Amino acid sequence: MKECNFYAGPSILDNGIVSKAIKQISNRENLSVLEISHRSDKIVSLFEDTKSMVRDLMNLDKTKEVLFLHGGASLQFAMIPLNIKGNGDAGFIDTGIWSKKAIIEAKKVRNVSIVGSSRDDLYNYIPKIEDYDLSALDYLHLTSNNTIYGTQFFEFPKCETPLVVDMSSDVLSRKLNFNDFDLIFAGFQKNLGTTGGSLVVLDKSILKEGNEDELLSMLDYKVHIKAKSMFNTPSVFSVLMCNLTLKWIMEQGGIDVIEERNQVKAEMLYNEIERNGLFYSYVNKRDRSLMNVCFDTDNEKIEADFLAFCNEQNIIGIKGHRSRGGFRASLYNSMPLESVEYLIDRMKLFEKRYARKGI
Ligand SMILES: *Cc1c(COP(=O)(O)O)cnc(C)c1O
Repeated sequence: MKECNFYAGPSILDNGIVSKAIKQISNRENLSVLEISHRSDKIVSLFEDTKSMVRDLMNLDKTKEVLFLHGGASLQFAMIPLNIKGNGDAGFIDTGIWSKKAIIEAKKVRNVSIVGSSRDDLYNYIPKIEDYDLSALDYLHLTSNNTIYGTQFFEFPKCETPLVVDMSSDVLSRKLNFNDFDLIFAGFQKNLGTTGGSLVVLDKSILKEGNEDELLSMLDYKVHIKAKSMFNTPSVFSVLMCNLTLKWIMEQGGIDVIEERNQVKAEMLYNEIERNGLFYSYVNKRDRSLMNVCFDTDNEKIEADFLAFCNEQNIIGIKGHRSRGGFRASLYNSMPLESVEYLIDRMKLFEKRYARKGI
């Protein structure tokens, strides 16, 4: 049996995506996309096609720019505070490690305000920020899905202030009005294919003007927009994998179908966590992520035993992040329902064994 990958990233890829990629590369009669110039028609049209699928799937306004960059999501933590205009503060909602990392980078180049934080309760909920006056901020940065602590935004702040959203771990997993956001970014490796690239969707109106000479070229969105994501040699393989992943989403029936599946998968697993006597969810019910299902047990021996048991059963990556412990099952778009059913079945079996043997 193939291993079930519940790791938080990189995620598994659908078999069809992998075979299509292999087919493209293994035809040795012609040069593959990995062996030709990025100025060639073939690569330019690969980029254009991928961009237009992003536009379609997100239903983007014409004013939005779509970029494929290098450096994962982490490079965006640096580029965003350098590029967005204004002399006020950059606001952040602190919902855990990924927002903290973004805050650390932003603080190096501009003033930062923390608008809300769930740190007081080990990040197990999404903080409310209604009382905060957002209008003075240059922009507000938030992480739509918190990969590590298993929380997710189901409502977004409504404000005039530009909204910057790190969607690395839930992009294209659910219907959203993507035009409501001024800058969206996501590393490719969770819901958009494989490692090595990132998607950025942005509204040019939020960028500093006339600063081409001030910013380092590789860190300047305007340079990348002008060069159509090919200012330097782009990561063609990761864009190819993104292209095939977006095609796969379309073949499945689009985001509607994907969202429905994601809801079913997560609900099944949360139900089992609630039912099973050995496990519990520590995440605020209203804020529970559909992508990263975090849970725990009260007993260290059960924790170690369950991890060993999963290992034996070909379930990998279920250990919670080192900062939190417990367990985490990541259910990205390409995680098949059967794998979730299998995990639930094993949780039941594990509970039965414990009931027989005791602790
Ligand atoms: C994985 C992840 C990142 C980091 O992505 P890299 O591509 O490794 O830089 C950032 N933010 C969130 C929400 C993530 O899940």
